[in-house]
Amino acid sequence: MEYFRQIPLKCTNIGVTMPKGVLLVGPPGTGKTMLAKAVAGEANVPFFSISGSEFVEMFVGMGASKVRDLFKQAKKKAPCIVFIDEIDAIGQKRNTGGIGGNDEREQTLNQLLTEMDGFEGNSGVMILAATNRPESLDPALTRPGRFDRRVPVDLPDLKGRVAILKVHAKKIRIADDVDFERVARMASGASGAALANIFNEAALRAVRNGRGFATQADLEESIEVVIAGYQKKNAILSDKEKMAVAYHEIGHALVAALQTHSAPVQKITIIPRTSGALGYTMQAEEGDHYLMTKEEIENKIATYTGGRVAEEVALGSVSTGASNDIEQATKLARAMIARYGMSEEFDMVALETVSNQYLGGDASLVCSAETQTQVDRLVVELVKKQHDKARKLLMENRDKLQELALYLYEKETITGDEFMNILKA
Ligand code: ZN
Repeated sequence: MEYFRQIPLKCTNIGVTMPKGVLLVGPPGTGKTMLAKAVAGEANVPFFSISGSEFVEMFVGMGASKVRDLFKQAKKKAPCIVFIDEIDAIGQKRNTGGIGGNDEREQTLNQLLTEMDGFEGNSGVMILAATNRPESLDPALTRPGRFDRRVPVDLPDLKGRVAILKVHAKKIRIADDVDFERVARMASGASGAALANIFNEAALRAVRNGRGFATQADLEESIEVVIAGYQKKNAILSDKEKMAVAYHEIGHALVAALQTHSAPVQKITIIPRTSGALGYTMQAEEGDHYLMTKEEIENKIATYTGGRVAEEVALGSVSTGASNDIEQATKLARAMIARYGMSEEFDMVALETVSNQYLGGDASLVCSAETQTQVDRLVVELVKKQHDKARKLLMENRDKLQELALYLYEKETITGDEFMNILKA
């Protein structure tokens, strides 16, 4: 909520531009709609809400005209907030090249982009949109001046779950000796909506058993019922998996921190994320729009391998949890050689071009098959070297790895300061 309090909805007369579009990013059940409503309520402005799927379920051409209508109304009622739920239904990446595709969706999306470009930042219309798959959105939507701000709405951590449970506990009668912390621990990975459901289920169970209040056993039994239902949709981890994820995430953070040039870690968590990543190590500087030195890129590759290395070092076996890391590390290594001119062998020769930059297209190789084979070999060498470096770092700091992983497992989310305190102790 704090973020929104800073957005001055009434400051249009003193010439401050407010953001046009804000993307609320988070898994289902984390209260994105409620958050959007609360923002409107807080600012005391009208609230227009529509779901992305409503646009595409209509006849061809209707979606675009509905978008036009929506913005016409909104501009009349400004200042106001327009909330588009499930924006991915219309905002998915468009087909690159080729004719055809989903005409209806593209027309609707184009209309939305036109509308967003057509009004000034100070027109008083603010658009909030919710998605749980931000990576699937068309890059045109997330460009500056459109949905250029992101607010993560994540699953609650242990502390958050205890707080949510206590709120719901006021709505039904429960036994005095209910241990909220124990319930929260068992419901690791549950969303706010799932926690509410646990209480409903517990109340029903109490009634079935002819009791006027829910007990600890009711709650624990309900967790299993509710979680089993959610488990398919959201990643809810077993204890053993949680431990492995803790090691993995600490591995990334530790390798990053032990290399002088890596940015310090802000936050580490083992709460499952929207992106499908199980854990998440956030580093202060993100994205590649800054200049990076060769050494910084190498360190970054080492950091990507750090998760897997921690599994190797601490658990003696490796998991599929590193698939995204592998992809990222490979991408960086390849770019170093083929695009940034950072290899001895190929010097400053471009071996790759980025096609269709506007649509965030992929890079394609422009070199002979022989060269390609050589590049592939260099990529493997490069990643391997950083993997070895990371392994050496974690082997030397095994004790810290274990101590930090156990701490993270207990707390589920830790700050960079907590991390550094343990590391330096
Ligand atoms: Zn990882």
